[in-house]
Amino acid sequence: MSDCIFCKIAAGDIPSNKLYEDDRVLAFYDIEPKAPVHFLVITKEHIKGACEITGENSALIAHIFEVIAKLTAELKLDAFRVITNCGAQAGQSVFHLHFHVLSGRILGEMG
Ligand code: 5GP
Ligand code: ZN
Repeated sequence: MSDCIFCKIAAGDIPSNKLYEDDRVLAFYDIEPKAPVHFLVITKEHIKGACEITGENSALIAHIFEVIAKLTAELKLDAFRVITNCGAQAGQSVFHLHFHVLSGRILGEMG
């Protein structure tokens, strides 16, 4: 999608502090970290958000969680939180599917 910031990051048109990349997903540090460790894992394919996960693309989501397990192990994070916001009211500001991984502080209760 031409006006999507995460598509531009996935294409390398906008630089990012990359942690991991393969043919399907990319992980990079959030530009405005909400915890001492805060990175995002995005699909390379433009998917609007969790509302667009279907039987056709859900293998990608399993892959994202494998990547999260690998990266958090490499970073020696034994406690972390994974969040995806779907819809503006839930706090989604970039409408391209992404999973936040937060760690390095006590994260508290949700909601
Ligand atoms: P959302 O609010 O949609 O759940 O999360 C979007 C996240 O993307 C925010 O935490 C925001 O700080 C991050 N973000 C927005 N633009 C950029 C960017 O250009 N580079 C990086 N690294 N992160 C970004
Ligand atoms: Zn996109």
